[in-house]
Amino acid sequence: MDALLCSLTAGLVCAPGTAAAGPVGARIGYVWDDRFKKHDPGEGHPESAERLDAISRAVAASSLQQRLTLIPPRRCEERWLMAAHAADYLQLVKATASSGQTVLPTGDTKVSSASFDTARLAAGSVLAACDAVISGQVRSAFCAVRPPGHHATTNRGMGFCLFNNVAIAARYLRLQHGIQRILIVDWDVHHGNGTYDILKQDPHVFQFHLHQSPLYPGTGRVEEQGEGSGTGFTINNPLPAGAGIKEMLPLFQKKLWPAMESFRPQFILISAGFDAHQADPVGGLKLTTADYARLTELVCDLAERHCAGRIVSALEGGYNLTALGDSVVAHLQVLADRAEKPVLK
Ligand SMILES: [Zn+2]
Repeated sequence: MDALLCSLTAGLVCAPGTAAAGPVGARIGYVWDDRFKKHDPGEGHPESAERLDAISRAVAASSLQQRLTLIPPRRCEERWLMAAHAADYLQLVKATASSGQTVLPTGDTKVSSASFDTARLAAGSVLAACDAVISGQVRSAFCAVRPPGHHATTNRGMGFCLFNNVAIAARYLRLQHGIQRILIVDWDVHHGNGTYDILKQDPHVFQFHLHQSPLYPGTGRVEEQGEGSGTGFTINNPLPAGAGIKEMLPLFQKKLWPAMESFRPQFILISAGFDAHQADPVGGLKLTTADYARLTELVCDLAERHCAGRIVSALEGGYNLTALGDSVVAHLQVLADRAEKPVLK
């Protein structure tokens, strides 16, 4: 960690081996780094670097800072990128960014010269957060990374996503750490089609998607339940515009909870999009800031029941800056409160 980063994150507790030791009780990890702002999709793009500043300001204004353990970012090794993506696709992202082109040839994803390195840092930072949770350094962690990842498929960038941070983390948890059963909860307003694409045949990963439909990218029907040996390991929950927490709660209680009684996850990843907020400009769902705290509690309930509270949450969407900052703080508040309580299992 350099001096610049420490000054930007003044007040945060640094992980052991970095600038300062954390106090007893700092049990939630936090990834935030100025370098995530270098990916530039262009003027006026909603997935802007200002999103990270909004999160940083909101966290600084909260009472959370002393409770967060800062996890230093790391660049994702190519072998882990390739655990979820085709080698040709990595080369394409690298070549496109370095050539000065501004759109990936795979479709609609804007890039800049720093996009490959930034996306690699984002993916690697989620792996660093997984390491911190697995080692017991922290109980859970939130990664304020960009670019987001859940639309990126094996061989295609889509939406605002280059590398699928959460899918890479799922593969890493199994292949590096031997975790056999991983739950992914994706509550971004858009369906995480890339995550589904990469992991739909993987029985080690259970996917639970909540998303507005119809909406970009047009996938995520109830009938999409996985393929091959992964059949039955995905629950897609398309929701109509105007739906909110009242419609989501029964899906957790009636679908996810009983499914997890059988699956018994050993680790939970959250694709934490905050664009289902009622103030968000891109979606039509009606979550409030407090509803994000409620969703976080539900995931913590599952994590405490099945996997000693182990959660890594990674930022996806969220484009109203005020709602984003407030909702991330609400999410962190619950993670921090729950991480500081003893878990019996
Ligand atoms: Zn989204």
